[in-house]
Amino acid sequence: MPGGPAPRIWCPDEDSLLHQMVAEGATWSEIGRALGLDRRMCKGRHTVLTAEPPDPPRPTRTRPCMRCGRSFQSEGAHNRLCDPCRDGAAGMAPLALIQHGHGGISIQDGGVSGLKVTDL
Ligand SMILES: [Zn+2]
Repeated sequence: MPGGPAPRIWCPDEDSLLHQMVAEGATWSEIGRALGLDRRMCKGRHTVLTAEPPDPPRPTRTRPCMRCGRSFQSEGAHNRLCDPCRDGAAGMAPLALIQHGHGGISIQDGGVSGLKVTDL
């Protein structure tokens, strides 16, 4: 059996045994032996099982662009301009260009040089 990163199909029984043994404090070696697998595979599978599920895709809806009136897929209430207008809307929709990063506010590049961001 060739080693490698190829994903393996785990059956529910194996998953539950994996969970059970982890809960009982078994080592990865013991778990691997019980499952007949490499312990790294068991550890990797457990990581997958306990990982946060990815964010579901944002619901989008079609709405008319506030600038050109063309329908586009909006990502939410903050998203009122179609992509071409947003790209060209320097300073017109400053909130859409501001992202809250940790430690402060950064302005995305987009030609908002005249914009002053103060009390936020
Ligand atoms: Zn537009």
